[in-house]
Parts: sequence; structure tokens; C-alpha cells
Amino acid sequence: MPERFKVAVTDSEYESHEIERRVLAKVNAELEVFQCRTEDEVMEYCSDADGLLNSYVPITRRVIGSLNAKVVTRYGIGVDNIDIAAATERGILVTNVIYDITDVADHTLSLVLSLARKIPRIYNTTKRGEWDWREFQPIARLKGRKVGIIGFGRIGRKVAQRLKGFEVELCAYDPYVSRAVFEEHEIEKAELETLLEESDIVTVHVALTDETRHLIGEKELRRMRGEALLINVSRGGIVDEKALYRSLKEGWIGGAGLDVLENELLVKGNPLVSLSNVIITPHIAWYSIDSLAEIQEKAAEQVAAALCGQIPPFLMNKEVLNRSK
Ligand code: NAD
Repeated sequence: MPERFKVAVTDSEYESHEIERRVLAKVNAELEVFQCRTEDEVMEYCSDADGLLNSYVPITRRVIGSLNAKVVTRYGIGVDNIDIAAATERGILVTNVIYDITDVADHTLSLVLSLARKIPRIYNTTKRGEWDWREFQPIARLKGRKVGIIGFGRIGRKVAQRLKGFEVELCAYDPYVSRAVFEEHEIEKAELETLLEESDIVTVHVALTDETRHLIGEKELRRMRGEALLINVSRGGIVDEKALYRSLKEGWIGGAGLDVLENELLVKGNPLVSLSNVIITPHIAWYSIDSLAEIQEKAAEQVAAALCGQIPPFLMNKEVLNRSK
């Protein structure tokens, strides 16, 4: 009898998991879907699984200690909710899913344009039956303004490519990307301080790590221009939200477009929601019907590969392979 595997979805926001079931059936693995909200629930329901598919519930060192899984795969790019070091110590493979990030870049541009053109405020007023452009003054022309990109990776580059069409001036800050890459993309390489001081729009595209947590705090926000806009579609923890609230309330900056929050489970009590110069979307930048299907398929493929003893294409902790040799 060929080996039969069990794969557990720790938590899910998707309506169907047929794509994963189809992919996993090929390696004789069945899927069980849970809605764990805590570490304890993951330990209770998923510890006997051979592979885990994870959305947001934290896979901490404690959880890792209880697992029998060969592989943990995150549905998406960011893996800040998984303790990769602990998984590596236990010989568990961790993968993310690299998918077409066009939608993330498009959503970033949507936030830039909506904020710069004040679309939500205008729309809400017009819907009330008012027809007067004058009350929305001033609106500055986007062309010719400077946009600073923090994190010049896959999403940062795609955003830059799209912004070029708007005839803005572009610069980026990324200490881990070589000058040659900046030159190839014809983007000015900037230091963080200069980018913050000179940009009319700042957009953040870095992963959340110990190094990037609160990368944008009070000091950084105070460096920005009074009318500047801040866009964050990366992770909430990168921006210090208390400082951001003060900066928007006291006019150190002009506005913010946020797809992510420090605590996404507690949006109702978040004072940022009440501000008229903030647009908030519910961590949706990644989503399109196309990306959803792509993420589900690729996630299941990572787990299937690991269960068959192959190296999953998006393996993040390659050190694990040396351990098992
Ligand atoms: P990436 O790894 O291709 O790019 C990240 C870049 O950040 C890298 O070039 C890296 O060198 C740079 N970086 C690292 N530390 C830095 C620092 N201290 N200062 C400046 N730059 C730094 O990742 P990506 O695919 O572009 O994704 C970026 C992040 O976007 C993901 O980690 C994820 O958290 C987030 N994301 C959000 C959504 C959403 O729906 N809101 C969707 C996809 C990704």
C-alpha cells in the first residue's frame, strides 16, 4: 500500500479548497481544513499532519515543537508569522508561495491615485447629492512629483515600472540591492533619510523582520514633507501606528493609504479608521481571482513535492537540507 498522507490547512479565508485537494490527491494526500485562531488550536488539530498549509495563525516555536509535519507552507509571500529558525532546528521545511505580484502593484497604484486625487472623499460627497469640485482643493498634479520606494524587491520594482507611466520622479531605498540593479531599472538609489525628506509619496515594500519592525516610526515620519503621502501594502508592523496616527492628526504628513495594520483582527477600535486623510483596505492587495487560484495551486504543489521527498521550489530554509544529509 502506498503511503497515505494527511495535510492540514491551519486557517483559511478561502471559500473552496478543491484546487489543493486535486493537487494533493496525486500524491495520495488528503486535506483537512481547520479554522485555528490560536497556537493551542493548531497544536490540537494539526500536530498529526504530514504537511501544513497556513494563512495567518502564528506557527510559533511552541507549535513547531508539537508538529510531526515535514513541511509548512504559507499561502503567500510573507512568512513573518512562522518561526523559521525553530522549524529549521526540527528539520521541518518552510516554504512560501511566490506568485505574480501584479495585483499587489496595481493595488499600490490604486491607493496612490485614490489618495492623491482624494477619490474616497469626493465620491462620498457626490453620493450625498453635492456637486462641487472646489471644496476638494488643493490637489497637486502627480506628474513631476517624487515617489520614494522603500524595498526594491519584486513588488517595489513592479510598482516602479507602473509609476513610470505617470511621469513621476522615482527613487528607492534598499541596502541589499546592488547599484547595478538600480541602474538597470533606471531608478535613483537613495538613502532612507533623503528618500523620506525628498519624496511627495513614500511607498513601503519590505518583508516584516526584526530589522524592519517599525522601520517607519516617529523619527522617520517627522522627516517627511507636510503634504507627503505614505502607502503601506507590506505588513502593518513596519509602520509604528501610534506615531502614524499622531503624524496624520498633527499634520506632519498629508495622508496614508494602508492595506495592512499592526493588528488586523481589531480594526474597529483602531483610531486610524476615523481619519479622513487615511484610506484603509482589508489586506486585499494580493487578491484577484487569478492570484487566488495561482496561490492555492502553488501552495499545494510545495507540500506535494515535500511529501514525495523532493525539494519544494519555494523552500525558504535551505539549511534544513544540510541537516538531513
Ligand atoms: P522581496 O523579497 O522581493 O522584496 C523585499 C525587498 O526588501 C528586498 O529587495 C530586500 O532587499 C528589501 N529589504 C529588506 N530589508 C530592508 C530594509 N531594512 N530596508 C529596505 N529594504 C529592505 O519581497 P516582495 O515580493 O517584494 O514582497 C514584499 C512584502 O510585501 C512581503 O514580504 C509581504 O510581507 C508583503 N506583501 C503584501 C501583500 C498584500 O496583500 N498586502 C501581498 C504580497 C506581499
